[in-house]
Amino acid sequence: MFRRTVLKSVAALPLLSLSHPLLAAPPATGTARRRLRPADAAWPAAAEWQKLRAAVGGNLLEVRPLFGACESAPDGAACLDVYKNIRNPFYIGDQPGGTQVSGYLNAWTPAPSVWAVRARHAADVAAAVNFARTHNLRLVVKGGAHSYLGTSNAPDSLLIWTRAMKQVTLHDAFVARGCEGKVPPVPAVSSGAGAVWIDLYGAVTTRAGRYVQGGGCTSVGVAGLIQSGGFGSFSKGFGNAAAGLLEAEVVTADGQVRIVNACTDPDLFWALKGGGGGTFGVVTRLTLRTHALPEYFGAAWGTVKAHSDDAFRRLIARFLAFYASSLANPHWGEQVAVQPGNSLKISMVQQGLGREEARAVWKPFFDWIGASADYTATEELGAGARKAQSWWQIEGNRSMIPDLRADAAPGQGWWQGDQDQVGAYLHGYDSLWLPASLLKETGPTRLTQALFAASRHKEVGLHFNKGLAFAPSEAIRASLDTAMNPAVTEAFALAIIADGERPSYPGMKRPPMDLEAARGDAHAIDLATQELRRLAPQAGSYLSESNYFNKAWQRAYFGEHYPRLQAIKKKYDPAGLFFVHNGVGSEEWSADGFTRVSGARA
Ligand SMILES: Cc1cc2nc3c(=O)[nH]c(=O)nc-3n(C[C@H](O)[C@H](O)[C@H](O)COP(=O)(O)OP(=O)(O)OC[C@H]3O[C@@H](n4cnc5c(N)ncnc54)[C@H](O)[C@@H]3O)c2cc1C
Repeated sequence: MFRRTVLKSVAALPLLSLSHPLLAAPPATGTARRRLRPADAAWPAAAEWQKLRAAVGGNLLEVRPLFGACESAPDGAACLDVYKNIRNPFYIGDQPGGTQVSGYLNAWTPAPSVWAVRARHAADVAAAVNFARTHNLRLVVKGGAHSYLGTSNAPDSLLIWTRAMKQVTLHDAFVARGCEGKVPPVPAVSSGAGAVWIDLYGAVTTRAGRYVQGGGCTSVGVAGLIQSGGFGSFSKGFGNAAAGLLEAEVVTADGQVRIVNACTDPDLFWALKGGGGGTFGVVTRLTLRTHALPEYFGAAWGTVKAHSDDAFRRLIARFLAFYASSLANPHWGEQVAVQPGNSLKISMVQQGLGREEARAVWKPFFDWIGASADYTATEELGAGARKAQSWWQIEGNRSMIPDLRADAAPGQGWWQGDQDQVGAYLHGYDSLWLPASLLKETGPTRLTQALFAASRHKEVGLHFNKGLAFAPSEAIRASLDTAMNPAVTEAFALAIIADGERPSYPGMKRPPMDLEAARGDAHAIDLATQELRRLAPQAGSYLSESNYFNKAWQRAYFGEHYPRLQAIKKKYDPAGLFFVHNGVGSEEWSADGFTRVSGARA
């Protein structure tokens, strides 16, 4: 386990030695049509790999599948250790061959890289980038390993694994390099690319009493989430996570280590704010703005079952009206689930309201439910709050599962509510941003009908924190200055429809998957999505939580920003060294990223 350090000082740029041959970057002229695989004669010889190993201080690892130890010794200690820990997301993240999702039906299956550079700093990353470019290899980048689309995993590739780059540094007054005199200093936090959100929440909130906008799931990688835009429970108050980026250190395809911000490389900086991970370069460090910590964080919870279809429609309509009148503001985020069994499950989270204030907000809605014989609370309804500073404290927190491994870093844990997702195998997934106009005039009636119809096929999750309508104007302004589809700022929620099953990693012993049922599930997800899409045919989708098979992903993820992103990609990675499924520029490559199918220079 890597040690985390928190320093109250201004981060110093790592001193890069450019004397090693792999660090002196040859020009980015790669024009090859096909990248190499290990069986190819031109695949680098052992001596070449040895040079890379030397350049990265010995941190070149052979990558094995997560359950690789079980192939040769199914009863061995190493294999038993995998089974023991496979529901721990921090354990999975610590394995070079680990992926937090165990596969996606007909989309992708975990398959390890041939080699991984366990990068310690930007110089290691530059060495790996130069090696991959010079030898025409498929390159892949992995941080927290939470890609639903499998974009941090590619067979026959060289992996840059950032897990070891965990340093977290707090700043009282940060000014991005080159911005001196142009912007005022602000409190901030710098994070190595391998840090996950609990590392930042521990340092910024638990120990320093401030707030940083990050993700909801504590084991998600900081760099991966920022590059996809990123939402946390309180994004309705603070905007998307990328909006808080002040500066990034990034290694581009030419092997250069660049410090980018709004003053130095504004285009590349903007692209890193939501333009997609694994696309423009390898981010090695990020600096994010911090905010004053609200006094309270809290929640509202419970499940209501309606006793007839008609009563369920009325419940949905009533909730939407209640949302519009009382919850559509910067305080309230997270979710309600509209469920097939005519149940509404409430899992909302709020910032800035004390316990009594939160209860008062929900009282009219809970009273309305309680007064009707049409409804039963199958899980107790309630609302509350606690001091915000203890929100991410693991010790004594009944909502959190601590990482109890002997070598776990202190303060590591994950939400009980995220447990089912750990290692899950996806049958299907989709998401769409629902415009706030659906809460006005005839919108609520149509939305009620669509939600009811969709829930006949699958549960629909309404994630209010992932649509930024009703956020403060400053948060909206900052989020509009990211590469994410601007439709996010006009949406009151992101609807997510997804399902899957328990972990199904290659080589893992478990009962065989019922493929017919899995395909049926995927179809049901499509049908449910169609019901909502009828209301908003042009609705965008959040790239990190989206359908692998979305054919209109460019418009869905980025909206009108796509042409600008394409131009930035061409400028900083003209040969397409960085490839991910449904990433900017990926149209020019085969689905596996090995063969250029268009755009190549002769
Ligand atoms: C269980 C679960 C919970 C989630 N919860 C949330 C949530 O609360 N909010 C939210 O917004 N999203 C959430 N997501 C989606 C998640 O934010 C994205 O998948 C994110 O990209 C993951 O980043 P990562 O580093 O963990 O994953 P990885 O799989 O390691 O990386 C994701 C992508 O970013 C690239 N990448 C990673 N690090 C770098 C780097 N340093 N430089 C360049 N590229 C890099 C990878 O190549 C890959 O393409 C969740 C996903 C899962 C599986």
